[in-house]
Amino acid sequence: MDVDADIEPGVCPPARNQLFLTFFLSRYGRVKTVALSDLLIAAAAGIGTGALAYCAALEAASAVRLALSITSGIATFAAVARKLASDHARQHATLTLARGLLNANRDCLKVLGRDGNMLRVSEYGAALMEAESPEQLAGADWLGFWQGDDRSAAETALATALSGTSASFTGSCQTTKGRTKWWDSTLAPVRDANGEVIALLCASEDVTRQTELLTTLREKSELMGEMESHVRLVFYSYSADLTTCLYVSTGVEQVFGITPSMLAQNSSVWLELVHPDDSERLRAEMRRIVEEASDGRCEYRIRRPDGCIRWIRSTAYPVRDEAGNVARVVGVSEDITVEQERLVALDRLAYTDGLTGLANRTALVQRIKALCRQNVAFGLMFIDLDRFKVLNDTLGHTVADRLLKDIGKVIHEALPPAACVARLGGDEFAVIVSGESDKASLATLAQSLLNMFSNEVRTNHAAPFVTASIGISLFPEHGRDHEALLTSADIAMYAAKKAGRNGFQFADKAASDVLEDFELERSLPAALASNQFALHFQGIHEPASLAMKSVEALVRWNHPTRGMVGPASFIPILEESGFIVEVGAWVMDAALAQLASWRAAGRKGLCVSVNVSARQLKDDSIVAVVDRALRKHQLPPRCLEIELTESALMDDPTLAQQTLMSLKRLGVRIAIDDFGTGYSSLRYLADFSPDTVKIDRSFTAKLLRDEATVSIVRGIIQISHQLGMKVTAEGVETNAQLDILRDAHCDYVQGFFLTKPMAADQLVDASRSIVMRQSESAVPSLSVDGT
Ligand code: C2E
Ligand code: CA
Ligand code: CA
Repeated sequence: MDVDADIEPGVCPPARNQLFLTFFLSRYGRVKTVALSDLLIAAAAGIGTGALAYCAALEAASAVRLALSITSGIATFAAVARKLASDHARQHATLTLARGLLNANRDCLKVLGRDGNMLRVSEYGAALMEAESPEQLAGADWLGFWQGDDRSAAETALATALSGTSASFTGSCQTTKGRTKWWDSTLAPVRDANGEVIALLCASEDVTRQTELLTTLREKSELMGEMESHVRLVFYSYSADLTTCLYVSTGVEQVFGITPSMLAQNSSVWLELVHPDDSERLRAEMRRIVEEASDGRCEYRIRRPDGCIRWIRSTAYPVRDEAGNVARVVGVSEDITVEQERLVALDRLAYTDGLTGLANRTALVQRIKALCRQNVAFGLMFIDLDRFKVLNDTLGHTVADRLLKDIGKVIHEALPPAACVARLGGDEFAVIVSGESDKASLATLAQSLLNMFSNEVRTNHAAPFVTASIGISLFPEHGRDHEALLTSADIAMYAAKKAGRNGFQFADKAASDVLEDFELERSLPAALASNQFALHFQGIHEPASLAMKSVEALVRWNHPTRGMVGPASFIPILEESGFIVEVGAWVMDAALAQLASWRAAGRKGLCVSVNVSARQLKDDSIVAVVDRALRKHQLPPRCLEIELTESALMDDPTLAQQTLMSLKRLGVRIAIDDFGTGYSSLRYLADFSPDTVKIDRSFTAKLLRDEATVSIVRGIIQISHQLGMKVTAEGVETNAQLDILRDAHCDYVQGFFLTKPMAADQLVDASRSIVMRQSESAVPSLSVDGT
């Protein structure tokens, strides 16, 4: 390039931007005669394109202003230039000024010829284009950089500028290294003195960073928009006092059925949709969030403008500014109707009986608790089908299930609509009757239920029998809480069963007795372990001498809170629970231990009677238990008599027979207890061939009043003797009874008249006193024991 020639020697080598100007001047000078001033003006105009670009960005009307600005720029510079033109030094100063201005510009500045070729590119511009030097770009076709739509925009801008009007456009082109950059370009025409456009100044601002940022932002916002429009979520931002809606996502349309613009107009329009029952709760939570400036959450119902009810969960988080003050509250609201419906369904499951669809025990208990809290009178019925197990076994489970369903229906229909019917499991139902719940109306209701069972259910199912037993308890009479009421009703039902089934009973004294039984049953397991059982002994005497031949061991329970409890209260419980086997083994051992001790003390011929119940007899351990106890206490088997009731023997005659034979083989004696109260079959007497028959005390009691009883007793004694058995009469309470028994040749007598059951140590003294009394009445041959 020959540009250096125009530079004055001694002046520092000019910078490239300066060269750009000189090159431009010289080149243009050669092509066309252009006044120096014009060229300088053109350069100055180029330097000013930053400002021009700004002006060009304004709308079309501003083209006038642009033109004015160019013109005024030109005019000012022209005046300066004219002054300098005469003087080379001045020209140099001009160049320095131009260089400074050029360097200050951060755009890619170019001078384009009318043909669109780049005559010159500013140094900074070349750097922006990643060119080695401005020269690398010089002469290149400016339009060639653009492609596609950008190319069209560039062509339009070029044509516009050539026609004399500045034009701008935004587009991307590649740098010399192939990197895509975004540019905001403005093209301004450069005119000669005649006003002809001789060149164009193009200033391109590199807006790649902004564009990329914008693109990223737009993409993010699109993504958010997509997400917001697809999920049933509302994102919102409210003022710190929750009164003004700052932002709400489009999801509000789906969730609340209102538009963001409705919220923009009225920030609390959504509150008007909230269900009246939930409104106060929600508002209280909102007040708390504002007051405490803390996170919050609330679940509530809304009625959407389309009328449907939805469940909403809203969460809120206060956002603080740098000073720590709450700047706004942001949060999310979501539609949780499906979740809520699932919860309700689960709830329903938890409180419903699967088979009948009635309430279950949990629901019943909840209802009772609620009524107790309200303190209103109500009745509770416990309904248990009679012999349902038999029905279940004979009908099969499927039919039995259907039967239960129908029974549930029958109960439901028979009761007032407000009554709560529950199935507690198996064949147990329960009913709460509030309102008319006095005894008389409950009794009527219970009876009508029983009638319906035996009529309707039976006909519908061709079932042999459907009867039920009903127990009824009343609030507050029979309990003030659900436990007491349920237990009382249950016990009353149990009493109804005991009274012959197919009936109802109110909770009462009898029921509370049963309750006591239950309590006893509960404390049974601990009783044996902590030595609460004891034995009392009652003498069995010879009627003539009154000598005590034997003693009967009678078990007692020394209950920690209830004192001495008689066997009638707990033997049935022991039998039912199977505990009798263990307790019986203890009795056997304790009785034989006592006998061994007495015999060791001198009462050589004394024997002992031990009661064994049906349940014990069925247990295979009985023979071993007896054998072990006899050996342990080194007693001859003949001194032990086992008392069995007729019913115990008849429970399972074959098994009883076998066990009896085994016991007999041991050498133990057998007595039939309470003879006359059960089957009283002489046939069985012969079959079991006991050693002793104990005539029940009910016969003894009638001896004086009833001649027939005397005959029966005499008959029993005679036949027993013929069969080789001894006879003991129980329950002798008077001397007169004793006389009759003596007269009838009864072998032994037992009763309060002789000795009462008592502790072992007291019995010795008692039996002595009998002997004393007897000796006073001058009966011969007395002895204290049977020796
Ligand atoms: P049981 O075998 O008939 O026993 C006699 C019962 O009659 C005893 O009642 C006794 O106190 C009572 N008694 C005796 N003399 C008279 C009298 O002159 N008048 C009246 N009214 N009663 C009299 P206890 O002790 O209450 O025993 C009741 C029942 O408990 C016994 O009837 C027996 O079946 C059963 N039992 C007692 N101890 C045991 C035991 O260790 N094992 C088993 N399995 N049952 C036992
Ligand atoms: Ca007995
Ligand atoms: Ca008896």
